[in-house]
Amino acid sequence: MGPKRVAFRWKRTTGTMSPSNPQQFQRPSSAGRTTETNSDSDSEFVDEEIFINARQAASAMIDSLFTQLPPIKDDLVTHTSELQDETVDIVLPFLSGEDEEVQYNEHGVPNLTREKHIQFLQQSLGRLPGRFVAADASRPWFLYWCLSALAMLGEDVSSYREAVAETARSMQNDSGGFGGGGRQLSHMATTYAVVLALALVGGEEAYEVVDRKAMWKWLCSLKQPDGGFQVCLGGEEDIRGAYCASVIITLLDLPLDLTPESPAYKEDGSANLFTGVADYVRRCQTFEGGISGQPNAEAHGAYAFCALGCLALLDHPGRIIPKYLNVRRFVAWLSARQYAPEGGFSGRTNKLVDGCYSHWVGGCFPLVEACLNKSKDPKLPPPTQSLFSREGLIRYILCCCQDQTKRGGLRDKPGKMSDAYHTCYVLSGLSSAQHQWLLDDDDEDANLETAKTPEWIALPYLDGEQIFDAKDRVRPIHPVYAIPQPNVRAIQAYFRAKEGF
Ligand SMILES: [Zn+2]
Repeated sequence: MGPKRVAFRWKRTTGTMSPSNPQQFQRPSSAGRTTETNSDSDSEFVDEEIFINARQAASAMIDSLFTQLPPIKDDLVTHTSELQDETVDIVLPFLSGEDEEVQYNEHGVPNLTREKHIQFLQQSLGRLPGRFVAADASRPWFLYWCLSALAMLGEDVSSYREAVAETARSMQNDSGGFGGGGRQLSHMATTYAVVLALALVGGEEAYEVVDRKAMWKWLCSLKQPDGGFQVCLGGEEDIRGAYCASVIITLLDLPLDLTPESPAYKEDGSANLFTGVADYVRRCQTFEGGISGQPNAEAHGAYAFCALGCLALLDHPGRIIPKYLNVRRFVAWLSARQYAPEGGFSGRTNKLVDGCYSHWVGGCFPLVEACLNKSKDPKLPPPTQSLFSREGLIRYILCCCQDQTKRGGLRDKPGKMSDAYHTCYVLSGLSSAQHQWLLDDDDEDANLETAKTPEWIALPYLDGEQIFDAKDRVRPIHPVYAIPQPNVRAIQAYFRAKEGF
């Protein structure tokens, strides 16, 4: 069943009405209905017809790609196809500028409700309701998600420094790494989240929380002879482990030598923390072209981001990605993650769009684009071409992922609750779509061997018409570390300047 079209009625308050300037319209005080106001001013005269013309002009700016069902549809009906149809029914009214609660710009796109999202994130950093006890082992994640999202929204999060340092201290184990809470086993994912949270609040007080010597020994104990990392002692080995370890090692400037106790230690000294990581990533590329969590599993958006992130920390993406991955097949799989009319990304083949893949899949594109910019392989796509529809992703995020009620926050899709996880990763995806990242050519020799970090340059993406308002641009984040680049530089510079541990 197609979406129900809802007519909007607005009143004019000031100046000349113009479809190209919807800021001049204001929602009526009574829900959706135009009424005569008690003002005697002519400027408040309600002109329904002009309003409808303005709405139609805005709707006309939306490409039919985002407002109509796909022209070709598989006749086979399955549970999956039914869920897909239901999802399209849910999102189309939002994409078509028909949400009664929302004001759209002249491109049919709502504004980023920045203040509401900030308030939602600030609340998520405070005391949470009792049901969140189930998320007790994810406390470091809440720190990272909220602080990172606040930073992208332009907030100064350094005021959280003392509180984050104290919380992080309570989660650190003497044997190295951070658990999800006090007296919990150290885990690669929670350690990654703590380190990023400390980098976000910045400063010596935060950095000095980390027992780097114990951290180094702990990482050595997780390093496996096949190149990968376990996520915790005795736990599973997967690509999350490799990505988190690579981020932790390079942010904290840890030595790469292995301790003799490491399962990957070699007496001849030929193995280190990064030995075999790229080969491990290579083994995770599947027949579809995407990347799975472990060799011989299903390709998934989040693992794809982890894979590219790992490689980009080992060497220049233009050199290392084509060396270890089949780029054409990877790009084909990655591109197939974006759906129309939704505009958002799915995480796997035959799955539904979900706002968080705006980061996991969307975050792969800056790294792939950096790879193509550098690569001279004529068989690869030209680097100047955007490999995904930035317009589609921005429409999905701003139209469908924002909770427009006073709760705020961002979400998977309409009908789902907003949460800190989706707020962080949807905004990260928005940042990817709004910017273009380039690697400084002078940093061609930057890699682990030369101990130089390549400098990324973020520019507003300007190709084509900008469909979002200028004030709705979020801050760019580093394409690998997923926090603002100045925070990456600061923590790395701090530890590089230190002698020993
Ligand atoms: Zn999600």
